Amino acid sequence: MSEIRLLANDGIDDIGKSMLEKEGFVIDTARILQEELPVKLPAYQGIIVRSATEVRKSLIDQCPGLKVIARGGVGLDNIDVEYAQSKGIAVINTPAASSESVAELVFAHILMIARFLHQSNRAMPVSGNTDFTKLKKAYSGGIELKGKTLGIIGFGRIGQALGRIARGFGMHIIAVDPYINVAELSGRTGDASGKVVLHTVPLDEVLHKSDVISLHVPGTGGPLISHAEIEQMKDGVILINAARGGAIDESALLGSLNTGKVFGAGLDVFENEPTPSSEILSHPRISLSPHIGGSTEQAQANIGIELANKIIELFRK
Ligand code: NAD
Repeated sequence: MSEIRLLANDGIDDIGKSMLEKEGFVIDTARILQEELPVKLPAYQGIIVRSATEVRKSLIDQCPGLKVIARGGVGLDNIDVEYAQSKGIAVINTPAASSESVAELVFAHILMIARFLHQSNRAMPVSGNTDFTKLKKAYSGGIELKGKTLGIIGFGRIGQALGRIARGFGMHIIAVDPYINVAELSGRTGDASGKVVLHTVPLDEVLHKSDVISLHVPGTGGPLISHAEIEQMKDGVILINAARGGAIDESALLGSLNTGKVFGAGLDVFENEPTPSSEILSHPRISLSPHIGGSTEQAQANIGIELANKIIELFRK
């Protein structure tokens, strides 16, 4: 293989970099400013980006030797994908790299809400030494998850990863997905002995039967869960959204939290990122995180590995 030069303009994890270097690729991680790319990128056969660097039509036109545009992560909003593909340039991303990390964060939110941990973590530093007994009373009466039903809306990579975790907690799992009828869930370590076959069910069934509902759908263009769907849920349901801001209508959520219909919610994504509504941020029954579902060291390493494998395969063809 003659020398192939790749520009990792937004960085690449060390593991992915060394996998590529072992295969003979030259990886340049010096960041080139967006305005300098039309002059400097033509020296490379590929560019690896995250969300910062834009690869638009005009840049693509300047780089006739470009073979691949690789995005570490999922969204391809910063790349003119169709135009690149029309020029014979491969566009790849790493949709599977962060699934386990997102699922773990979701489960953390479920535990937070079920045991009032988000509230006690706020209150203990303030009055844990003066009002201990009062706080103990306030945060008693939590929910044991064993035996409860988890409803998963969107049974793709993250939905199934969450299902595997929840099985370990002894939860019963039901899922809805218009494109998946049946899925096999093994244990988290891939242990096939505990494998179960799960048939998806209609949305109504998930809404009616679940004690906890978590969304793992792609962008839907509008809320999937609004007032009408919440009304169909069990009283005291826990709702989690780590999919897309707005997949749960935030004003419907606030209303149902205030009536007690929804016991609590966990949100990693918001309608108005990066300035979520202050009513959402200050609500005592919402456990919050700033869109960090996929932001772990392991997910970053996985992104590098998935990118490296895909790039190696592409140039081997
Ligand atoms: P995926 O494509 O593997 O799974 C999504 C599933 O949703 C698919 O199986 C699809 O058939 C199903 N689906 C589509 N429309 C549906 C509907 N109306 N009702 C029920 N199911 C429906 O995607 P994934 O990797 O599991 O990611 C899921 C979501 O998680 C995406 O929105 C993604 O943006 C988000 N995400 C969030 C973070 C984070 O940091 N919080 C990180 C990565 C991904």
